[in-house]
Amino acid sequence: MNPYPPILSELIRKLSRLPGLGEKSATRIAMYLLKAPERDVESLAENIRQLRSNIRTCSICFNFTDEPVCAICSDPVRDTGQVCVVEGTADLLAIEQSGAFKGRYHVLQGVLAPLDGIGPDQIRIKELFARFKSEKINEIILATNPSSEGEATAHYLLQILKDQAVRITRIAYGIPMGGDLKYTDRVTLERALKGRQAF
Ligand SMILES: [Zn+2]
Repeated sequence: MNPYPPILSELIRKLSRLPGLGEKSATRIAMYLLKAPERDVESLAENIRQLRSNIRTCSICFNFTDEPVCAICSDPVRDTGQVCVVEGTADLLAIEQSGAFKGRYHVLQGVLAPLDGIGPDQIRIKELFARFKSEKINEIILATNPSSEGEATAHYLLQILKDQAVRITRIAYGIPMGGDLKYTDRVTLERALKGRQAF
């Protein structure tokens, strides 16, 4: 028989569904929450609640933000002529931390994965194309991951953009095939961006 009261076992079950958490870590977190100061637990619960109601995606680049336009897109110092295309916000953050890029981003919110039913309409490709038409973009840097889906997505974007008057580059990868931008160190990312090549 499950030794825990229902509300506790339910919390453990829900926590263990979170990425990277198994039942053991979920149990440890639940036990911690039981003993932690009440205001800390309240504040965590409030934070989770507000996350869904206050965080939206930037109307320009689809980065997560609590304003209509994110801090990067509204920064007047950033180069609006360069757009770095990434799969997700975590990749954007990794590139930001490298400090090697001063343009703007376009967050696809996924990659093409036909086997999982994810085609061009399921990610923000149309929106990238629309930006290309309305903004003065002179370089699009494809920074999808060096995975088979990331490569397929980069090739697809190249196909739809290649006849446009825009320089298309692919970041150089010291990142091994199958690697992941968001877990790549700052120096490797900086080198990958600086060594980008026409695609
Ligand atoms: Zn933005």
